[in-house]
Amino acid sequence: MTSDLQNLIALQQIDSHIAALRAEVAALPKHVAEIEAKLAGSKAKVEAATAAGKADEAARRKHESDIQDQQQKISKYRDQSLNVKTNDEYRALMHEIQFAEANIAKLEDKILEIMVAADVRKETLKKVEAELKAGTAENEREKEDARQRTAADEKELAELTAKRNELRAAVSEDALRHYDRVLQLRKTALAAVYENQMCSGCSVLLRPQVFQEAMTNQQFLTCDTCKRILYYVPPPPKPEVEKTPKAPVAAEAATSGEDEMPSSGEVAPQ
Ligand SMILES: [Zn+2]
Repeated sequence: MTSDLQNLIALQQIDSHIAALRAEVAALPKHVAEIEAKLAGSKAKVEAATAAGKADEAARRKHESDIQDQQQKISKYRDQSLNVKTNDEYRALMHEIQFAEANIAKLEDKILEIMVAADVRKETLKKVEAELKAGTAENEREKEDARQRTAADEKELAELTAKRNELRAAVSEDALRHYDRVLQLRKTALAAVYENQMCSGCSVLLRPQVFQEAMTNQQFLTCDTCKRILYYVPPPPKPEVEKTPKAPVAAEAATSGEDEMPSSGEVAPQ
């Protein structure tokens, strides 16, 4: 293989590694922002549950003071009823007292409702507070993790960039220019060619002559279709064909009953 091809293959590996690392580095702040947003959601839930609890408490106090007002009215009407002159006046006062008592009953129902709801609210608040606590801890962990990963990625990127520069310096200018153009256009600039005679970059069958030339790995060849630089990858060496000695084969055939070719004189068992 030519040294240009070797260097370009290494360069492409480094370039894809660099692209992956850059994508990760770019994605990390977004990931952190997502965590922050989730945490802000938990905070808002806690605030809402706390505010709802306070509103309920204020409503309960208001209802209690309204009950006191109604009770004061009732005792005032009772006092007045002792001094009334007519039955009509008395009936009117009794009517007022009934009305106030009905109000008190309604207010007491409302207080009961609030107390029942408050139990549910307390549970909700406990739950969202626990969520917030867990979220805060997770947030710190994830942010620290993101910081460390970013630092590690940056370090690796610096190392890869140095290697990349070395490789680029070793490749001929024309080859490098072609590489850069195709890389920009197609994300990969090289394509392996296997026994199926296709460009693995675009899956188009190569012309027989191009395939023959590619097999040598001695030329700078590009795919007619996608323009990727071609390099040939020979098939892996085939494992040794099983050559079992005759005697064991015969013995195996005798026991397994497989349709082995019987040696002369022997009869294949059923
Ligand atoms: Zn191609």
